[in-house]
Amino acid sequence: MITTSLTASLTIQERHLNRLKEFLIHQDGVERAAYILCGESSSSLDPWTGHPHRKFFSYDILPVPEDEVLSSSDQHITWKTDSFVRTLKRAQEQGLTVALTHSHTGGFAEFSDQDDANEPDLVELAQHRNGESTTLLSLILTSDEKLVGRLWTTQQQWIPLRLISVVGESIRLHYPGRGQGQSSPILQRQALAFGRVLEQDLAMLRVGIVGCGGTGSATAMLLPKMGFRRTALFDKDIVEESNLNRLHGATQADVDAKRPKVEVIARSLTELGLGMQVKTYQSWIGDPECRDALKACDIIFGCTDDHAGRLLLNRYAYYYVTPVFDMGLAIEVSPSEPPEIKAMDGRVTALVPGHTCLLCRGVISPAIARDEALKRNNPTEYERRKAEAYVLGEGNPSPAVVLFTTDVAIMAIEELVHRLQGFRGENGSVAQRVRKFHLMEDRRQGANPDPYCPVCGSVEYWGRGDVDPFLNLVG
Ligand SMILES: [Zn+2]
Ligand SMILES: [Zn+2]
Repeated sequence: MITTSLTASLTIQERHLNRLKEFLIHQDGVERAAYILCGESSSSLDPWTGHPHRKFFSYDILPVPEDEVLSSSDQHITWKTDSFVRTLKRAQEQGLTVALTHSHTGGFAEFSDQDDANEPDLVELAQHRNGESTTLLSLILTSDEKLVGRLWTTQQQWIPLRLISVVGESIRLHYPGRGQGQSSPILQRQALAFGRVLEQDLAMLRVGIVGCGGTGSATAMLLPKMGFRRTALFDKDIVEESNLNRLHGATQADVDAKRPKVEVIARSLTELGLGMQVKTYQSWIGDPECRDALKACDIIFGCTDDHAGRLLLNRYAYYYVTPVFDMGLAIEVSPSEPPEIKAMDGRVTALVPGHTCLLCRGVISPAIARDEALKRNNPTEYERRKAEAYVLGEGNPSPAVVLFTTDVAIMAIEELVHRLQGFRGENGSVAQRVRKFHLMEDRRQGANPDPYCPVCGSVEYWGRGDVDPFLNLVG
């Protein structure tokens, strides 16, 4: 291994891991092999390391046919390269990267001397066929479901994968040193409830908070107390007086100084002294200056009110196999004084491949998203149409109460913690949870994807990663 500043990671869709287990782990204890075709997200700059990062996502799985296996035992496997060449052809046509995957049925969670001896020949073959810059991933799945991986950048050089995540109903992380080492004294009482590994997992994750208002600021302030260590904050707005009722960490002085919300929250997080590394982006999430930071995040909390921002995150979750926990609060009142509460709903929707998306759930209005885009890109035309009452979604300010914005933030973090740690037991993951504050009830809301939905209705883009234009979004 030669050290380089480049780092790499891999995210596997849960449904793909289940298929891999089916193909690779059998009672007979003999090693088997498969290929994973991977989409990629390439960032020239990871904001936390300052180095380039390549993140791969499982896109499709192809087992090595049994009749191509030349010899195999509980210690090794060799196979003819016909299926490898076919897979390379498809990878080249579709702009994907191949991950060689084989089982270590004895449970050995490291590359063997034989792997080290065999793989350079396959890298050579891949580069000979698909071009010199072709890279190859290699992955081991052990019988006790451990995953280790590396990225071959040349025939002589590889780098270990920093993190392998399996994402779906649950989220499982694999990285060197997991489960070793001491618990932090600060988190001892939490470890009594959740165990010591959770804080290690949380410290591995890069968390994006999109929208730093009531729910976003509440989410941010809780993260370091749980053991998270890296966050990126995205919001273009400054603190206004009417935000002070619910913006955690903000003061009247911030209003007077017209400070950006992201800076105010970053300051509060730093003041806690819990080692949180915060990056701030005072921009709308769709702006290109947010792109690298967004792509560096492993988890996203969607705390934005705007439909265009939600529309982007809604696609992002599926293309980049990155869990998005989208939050919303809807308080509906009568026009009387005092107002009568008609509905008071806090919502958390988890977006991952396999779950129904926000479009199919009717949470996002594409018409409002279009008007928001017009307002951003062509304010004059927007004002003209507004005067003619052609634009939507510009009503009076909606009701917001700190009790409920904070509660929704807690629901979202709780959903993530369950998916990592499993404290709710089997079937504890909730794709959409709505808390009816006025009725003191929680509801799980199911919904089916529209079969024609371009986001969640088919697997075509799940794990596709970078495409041009970004997320196939036009305009
Ligand atoms: Zn091996
Ligand atoms: Zn959908």
